[in-house]
Amino acid sequence: MSESTPFKSLAELGEFGLIDRIKRQVLQSPDVVCGIGDDCAAVTLPEDKLLLTSKDLLIEDVHFRRCWTDMYSLGRKSAAVNLSDIAAMGGTPHHFYLGVGLPTDLAGIELDNFCRGFLDEALAAQTTLCGGDTCRSNHSLLISVTVQGSVSATQMIRRDGAQEGEALYVSGTLGDSALALALLKKGETPSDYLSQRHHRPTPRLALGRALAEQGLASSMIDISDGLLADLGHILKKSSLGAHIDQQQIPLSPEVRAHLQQHPEDETTILRGGEDYELLFSAPPRRGDDLDQLSSQLNLPLTRIGTLLPAEKRLNIVQLNGSEHQVCAEGFNHFKS
Ligand code: ADP
Ligand code: MG
Repeated sequence: MSESTPFKSLAELGEFGLIDRIKRQVLQSPDVVCGIGDDCAAVTLPEDKLLLTSKDLLIEDVHFRRCWTDMYSLGRKSAAVNLSDIAAMGGTPHHFYLGVGLPTDLAGIELDNFCRGFLDEALAAQTTLCGGDTCRSNHSLLISVTVQGSVSATQMIRRDGAQEGEALYVSGTLGDSALALALLKKGETPSDYLSQRHHRPTPRLALGRALAEQGLASSMIDISDGLLADLGHILKKSSLGAHIDQQQIPLSPEVRAHLQQHPEDETTILRGGEDYELLFSAPPRRGDDLDQLSSQLNLPLTRIGTLLPAEKRLNIVQLNGSEHQVCAEGFNHFKS
C-alpha cells in the first residue's frame, strides 16, 4: 500500500491532489457502488442487518502528540479505535470515512505515512475507505473518523443488557497503554511492548463477533476511558452495581513489575484509558464456553468480578486486600 512518488508539501499537492492520492491507494470493493470522488458515497449493506455507525475525533495535543508517535501508527490507531466500537457491539465493520484538518507544515512523507497506516488497518479489518473531507487547519492536526458496520438485531450486544449475578470479564491485559502514557509524560521511554500497546491498539473484532454469534455476552463495552469509567457505563445503563477483585485484573508482566516498584500507580491501571480491550458480562454457566473461545482466539478472557444489585454500588477489593466503594470514573474531557 505505498504511493511511489513522494511529495514535499501540501501546498504543492493541493486538496484535490491529496484526495486523488488517497483514492489511488484504496482497493476496490464490490459493496462500494460509488466511492471517493462524488458528492456522497453509495454502498450496499448486508440484508436484514442493522447499520452500526461510530465516530471518533483525534485532536493533536488532546489525544496524541506528534512528538510521541510516528504517523504510520497514528494512522493505524485512528482506524483501530473506531473498529473497537464496532467490536463492542458484536458487529462487522464495512466502511470508513476520514475527515482531516491538516496543518500546512505537515510534511508530505508524514501525511503519506499516516494514510498508509490508516489504510493498512482498514484493510486488515476487511473494510474500505469510502469518503471523507479534507481541510486546512490553522492550528493542530485534527482527525475525524467514521466507521460503519452491521450486526443482526438478535445478536447486537448493548451496554444495558447486564443482569444481576452475572460475571464480568475483560479481554487481554489492562493498564499497558496507560502506563506507556504515564512514562511518556514523565519524559521516559516506554518499552517496545508498552509503546505498541499505546500507539497500536488491536481492535478485538474476532472476539466481539464470536461473543455475539454464540450469544455469550449480555452487555459489552470497549475500554477506552478506563476500566472503572467504562464499567460505570454498563452499571448505569443496566441499573446494577458490581464487585471487582483487583487481584484478578489481568496485567502484563511489565505492568506487574512496575506496580511492584510503584504501588502508588495502582489507580493508573484502574482509571487509565485506551486499553481497547472488551469488557463484557456473561452468565456464570457460560464460563466453559468462554474458556474455549479464549483458547481458540489465543486471547485471555479473565473473570474480574460479579454484577450486584444497584444499591451495592461499585465495590473493589484492592491489591492490599482492603475493600472500598469506589467512584466509577476514568478520563473525562471536561473535568480537570
Ligand atoms: P464536497 O465538496 O462535495 O464535500 P469534496 O471535494 O470535499 O466534496 O470531496 C470529494 C470527494 O473526495 C468526496 O467523495 C469525498 O468523500 C472524498 N474525500 C475528501 N477528503 C477525503 C479524505 N480525507 N479521505 C477520503 N475521501 C475523501
Ligand atoms: Mg467536502
